[in-house]
Order: sequence, then C-alpha cells, then structure tokens
Amino acid sequence: MPETRYQRVVIKISGEALQGDKSFGLDDRVALSLTDEIKRAHDLGVQIAIVLGGGNICNGLLGAALNMEQAASDYVGMVATIMNSLVLQECLSNKGIDTRVQTAIAMPQLAEPYIRLRAVRHLEKGRVLILGGGTGNPHVTTDSAAALRAAELKAELLMMGKNGVDGVYTDDPKRNPNASLLSKISFDEFLARRLEVIDTAAISLCQTNRIPICVFDCLGKGNIRHILQGEAIGTLISNNKDLE
Ligand code: UDP
Repeated sequence: MPETRYQRVVIKISGEALQGDKSFGLDDRVALSLTDEIKRAHDLGVQIAIVLGGGNICNGLLGAALNMEQAASDYVGMVATIMNSLVLQECLSNKGIDTRVQTAIAMPQLAEPYIRLRAVRHLEKGRVLILGGGTGNPHVTTDSAAALRAAELKAELLMMGKNGVDGVYTDDPKRNPNASLLSKISFDEFLARRLEVIDTAAISLCQTNRIPICVFDCLGKGNIRHILQGEAIGTLISNNKDLE
C-alpha cells in the first residue's frame, strides 16, 4: 500500500468549489473530478470524513434579499450541505467506494443521524464518511462544523479545501497584488493578523485541540493525495511548537 502520513483526516470542501464555473448549484465535471481525487486518497488507506459546504446552493444572499431571519436562512444553508452530501455519496458509490452520510439535522429517510461512535466505526471499517448539515446550528459555518468534527473524531489533520485559493496569503490577494502565499503560520499569528480565509471559531477549536489545518485548493489535481503523503501544499496552520 502507498505510504501516507495520516491515519484519519477531515476534509472540508467548500460549496463554491462544487459550483465550478456555474453561477449556481453543482458542476457535474467538478463533482466527478473531486470523486476521483477522493478515491485516490482513499486508496492510500486513510480514514476520511468529508464535510461539504453549501454556498453553491444557498450563500445567504437569498435570505438577505428576502429579509429572512438569519437563523431561517442558515437552516436552508444546512439543508443545502445535505443535498451536496447526497450527490457526493452517489458519485463515490458509483466508483465502488463504500460510504455513509450522517446528518446533523435528522433526515432518517435519507441518511443516518450524526452519532460520534457510529461515525468512528464507519471510519474504522474504511467507509468514506460524509457529514451533512454542518453543526446543525445556525450562526456558524461549515468551517466550524469541520473543526468540531475533526476534534470529536480525533482527526490528525483538518484539510480545508477552498476554491481557487491555494492557501493563506499575507493579505487578500484580490485586493493587494503584493500579498504572498504563506507555507506555514501559527494559529496565534493567523488570529493576530485577522486573516479571513477560515472562520476564527474553527481556528480556535483546532488550536485548543492541537489539530493542524492545511488550507489548499481542493480542485488542484493530486492535491488531496499529495498532502496525505506529507507534501507541503497550500498553507499549514498549527501550534507554534509544532512549526519549529
Ligand atoms: N450553516 C449553518 N450552520 C452550520 C453550517 C452551515 O448555519 O453549522 C449555514 C450557513 O448559513 C452557511 C451555509 O449553511 O452560510 C452554507 O455553509 P458554508 O457557508 O459554510 O458553505 P461554503 O461557503 O463552504 O460553501
């Protein structure tokens, strides 16, 4: 079996990544290519839990336009993440990968509810676990859900897959052409610099639980597998001591 540096990881994939070039929803080519990437990573023997975003279906703009309450709009966003999860499950199943979807909002006709010990069991059995519905609570995002699950499931790494963003920059590269990519940064420095690529709640959770975060472009070919094999891709955010 090819070598891997990690035994268990959580991979967060943003909804925007699933959208590809489309203005809304899922791009089938992106879904298929991500499926291949996940399959190659799974072939390494790593236990993989996936948290999907929902911004490709509901990103808060609709809620704002319709003057929806924040919590109501957030629940629609959580359901959107479950829709993405069910699609990814089908794509992975079609490639012969055993999967389970667990949701933070109960939908028993569609998937299991999230139960930590069952989740661990699925991972131990080599099933790709897809976690839909975020945290099940409004006012947070799937970045926080991914951090929370990484802590609960004792993942060794949280891989934050972004779309078109290949890591953490010194400043917003869209606004500042002089912004440069950081290969490593500590949690403290990330928070002190008020960098925005990940929720601060997710950062704090990972800092407390000593779970390093790798921010990377999830659509980059081979990125998931190469990171699992220990290659320095994107930006690694971790505790000061671990960076030495
Ligand atoms: N959401 C939420 N609680 C959660 C996770 C998600 O309320 O635990 C809602 C929130 O409105 C969020 C939307 O679902 O904007 C979609 O998730 P997110 O923005 O994290 O998706 P991404 O931007 O990664 O596609």
